[in-house]
Amino acid sequence: MKKLAILAIVSAAILSACQKQGSDAAAPKTDSVASAPASDSSLVLRPTAEQVAQAKRVGNKHCPVSGEKLGGMGAPVPVIYKGELVELCCAGCVKDFENDPEGMLAKAKADTVLGE
Ligand SMILES: [Zn+2]
Repeated sequence: MKKLAILAIVSAAILSACQKQGSDAAAPKTDSVASAPASDSSLVLRPTAEQVAQAKRVGNKHCPVSGEKLGGMGAPVPVIYKGELVELCCAGCVKDFENDPEGMLAKAKADTVLGE
């Protein structure tokens, strides 16, 4: 009886493992379709006006790359990382932001705190 029960558990585990793999393989497809319009998962270096409007503004006063005060070199350049909009002082800083978006986002957020 015990052996039968173990067999049943093992085969159930194998079955559910197969089902899990099956749904995992199918999941990314539906996920990417559902989240395609959203801009919250990745780095957007050239956001559209719509993406800018949808993004959450970090509100940094200085460029996290150069430390320049925004607006001093013309209109700030927006970039979006994980749905958060950071403004850079110029297009030249976009590349450096791309190299370390996580750190630059943190820097931009720290700037907001300092500015308050
Ligand atoms: Zn710059």
